[in-house]
Parts: sequence; C-alpha cells; structure tokens
Amino acid sequence: MSHLYAIAIGSNRRHGRHGRPPQVVAAAIARLDEEFGLFDASPVILSKAVGPAGREFANAAALIESRLDPAEMLEQLKAIEREFGRRPGKRWGPRVLDLDILLWSGGEFDSRRLTIPHKQLEKRAFVLEPLAAVAPGWRSGGLSVRHLSERLSRKRPADRVKASRTSSSRSAGRGAARPART
Ligand code: AMP
Repeated sequence: MSHLYAIAIGSNRRHGRHGRPPQVVAAAIARLDEEFGLFDASPVILSKAVGPAGREFANAAALIESRLDPAEMLEQLKAIEREFGRRPGKRWGPRVLDLDILLWSGGEFDSRRLTIPHKQLEKRAFVLEPLAAVAPGWRSGGLSVRHLSERLSRKRPADRVKASRTSSSRSAGRGAARPART
C-alpha cells in the first residue's frame, strides 16, 4: 500500500558541489523526486542571520509517495542526509541537510526512534509555512495545517520580534520564516 508523507527539508550549511543552503534544499527535493514519487514541493524559504558570521537557513516541504513504512522511511531519509555529507554530530550545529517526517497518511506513529506528527511541527513557522503551501488542508491534532500556520503567526508576535532582532528574513516565494533547525 502506498503512503503519503510530508517531509521537512532544511539546510544551514553550504555543500561543496550544490552550493548555498537554498541550492542544497533544491537538490534534496530533486533527490526525493528521484527516490520516491514526488507529489508536490513548496518554494524554498530563505532566512539570513545578520552579521559577518551570519548563516543562511533554507527550508521547504515536500509531499512524497512511498510504500515504505515510517521506520523504513526514516532510514531512507537518514541515508540521503549522509549522501549530502551530513555526519552525526552536534544536534544544534550547522547542518548540510536535515530531513524530517512531519506527517504521514497513516495518522499517528510512535516508537522509540520516531514520532509522527513531528513533535515540533506546531511550534515552527519555518516548517508550517512551507507545509501550508503544499498541504493546507492536511489535519494534525484535529486542525488543518493552514490553521496551525495562521495560529502560530498570530500567537507568536514576540518570537517574530525576537527573530527580527537577530535575523533579517526574506523569502523565495512565500512568507519569511524564523531561522532554526528542522
Ligand atoms: P535530526 O537531528 O532532526 O536528524 O533527528 C534526530 C532523531 O530524531 C532521528 O534520528 C530520529 O530518531 C528522531 N525523530 C523522532 N521523530 C522524528 C520525525 N518525525 N522525523 C525525523 N526524525 C525523528
């Protein structure tokens, strides 16, 4: 049976061949298309931290189709991260590529290694905004992704102010996002 997965794609470190984070995210979307059936992909959202050492953060969301179960899908995504040069290391350090499972068509999934919906989904504008571009009506915890995304932008003005003090955000296509990991 084929399942639909919503995947978060993030990068905040350049890749020797692909280049800057937005190009890394675009290359990762192409790679997902090669590996799975790519149903849809959002525009790449770009945020840039201020200052000489500022890092660029690029995020997007993709919908893919696969027969893999969630545990197998996580393994495949980890393998793609490794292909892109990701090495196990600091959880909050710079990452060439981060792939997370946000939602799947099977509903809730919970194991020692994996929780779906992703635990941080409802808290992260930089995940919800691109996800709302490709799956606005997909429901998580009874609420649609569009609703969750709008609720977050209403509920979190303080975070947005904080973010704008440390970063100037711009967007390739859609609203700006807070820079952070996925
Ligand atoms: P990360 O640092 O984002 O690559 O993820 C670290 C670990 O989080 C992974 O190795 C997974 O075991 C775990 N994890 C739990 N839930 C999820 C999820 N929904 N998607 C991806 N990783 C998850």
